[in-house]
Amino acid sequence: MAWHNIIGQHRVKNILTRAIAEKRIAHAYCFWGAEGIGKDALALEFAKVMNCEQPRNNAEGIIEACGTCKSCHQAAHIQHPNIQFIFSLPAAKAASSDKDGGMGTSPILKLSDDQIHLIQEQLKIKAANPYHNIAIPNAAQIRIASIREVKKQISMSSSQRGRRFVIISEADAMNQEAANAFLKTLEEPSSQVTIILTTSRREQLLSTILSRCQQIRCDALFDEDIANALVAQHHIPLEEARLAARLADGSYSKATELLGEDLRQLRIEIVNLLRLMLTPRFVQKFTYELEALVGKGSADRDRTKLERMLILLLTWIRDAYALSVSEREDTIINIDQIEDLKRFVGRFGVSGNLDAAARAIEQAIERLRRNVNATLILTTLALEVRRILYRAL
Ligand SMILES: [Zn+2]
Repeated sequence: MAWHNIIGQHRVKNILTRAIAEKRIAHAYCFWGAEGIGKDALALEFAKVMNCEQPRNNAEGIIEACGTCKSCHQAAHIQHPNIQFIFSLPAAKAASSDKDGGMGTSPILKLSDDQIHLIQEQLKIKAANPYHNIAIPNAAQIRIASIREVKKQISMSSSQRGRRFVIISEADAMNQEAANAFLKTLEEPSSQVTIILTTSRREQLLSTILSRCQQIRCDALFDEDIANALVAQHHIPLEEARLAARLADGSYSKATELLGEDLRQLRIEIVNLLRLMLTPRFVQKFTYELEALVGKGSADRDRTKLERMLILLLTWIRDAYALSVSEREDTIINIDQIEDLKRFVGRFGVSGNLDAAARAIEQAIERLRRNVNATLILTTLALEVRRILYRAL
């Protein structure tokens, strides 16, 4: 990693690199914002640059880690003596571990061999891809044993050059006991140590903790930035990357998860449904297809699928709109279906109608999120889209 490998977040990178250049590093930060947008990536890179043996200015005058020194190598593997990376762990075998004052033993050492192995695997993945959400079964909390370990590390003198960092990933997972212990640590800042909390649920953190941190908001990512990163890192076609990005709400890790799902198939299904909406005497067929598609219930899983389908339909209609007003094809998301799109535009391409149809779909997505009956939403939408697209033809 280097700053330029972190997707988007230019404002935050600016704040951090300026702090490094001016040697004004706070003793505690809270990086907050939605899941999967790179908060841990920023924290890890910050710690790496501050510990690099030969940091240098890049072409834009920004301080970068060299990426090749021993320190950079250790930091890149999250195995740096100066960088403690804290995250939720499962409860230890001995249930008393939270109470026994177990100073001096790493909380990890109390776990089973299988658990330790799993944690090491997860850390390896995290090191290779800092956008990875560490997932360990039964690990919903950051426990006091982890915070005690932090305290112990901070209190020991370090022979390492550079600056010590404690990164607490998804810090809102600290249980009450851990949070109270951590607050004491924050109240006694050490000039040698910087603590970074990352969280996508800032409201869950104690206000007494937040008030002692410099809070830095991290923004959701732009679709285009996500799509380009997906192409670069997963070597997938741009149109597939754009579909995933469009559905990911600005979260890179969510977009990565979506790659495993067959979005193209989902899109084929919804575009077929659109075709059906526009055929004569569509109602009976439509109801039948709808049930096959949505299922009769409205389980959350079906709703997620349905929402994705409507968003895909929206990208399709927006593409048609774009084609109806301009010949340019470079912003078209569903570029692999360009011939179908052109035919559709040839038949229904009154741009005002396409725009209205897009808004009807947006409203349907809103209603779906408000938990209105899914079949009702789709039937209403079908009638609405049909009425809009056939008017003034
Ligand atoms: Zn270096």
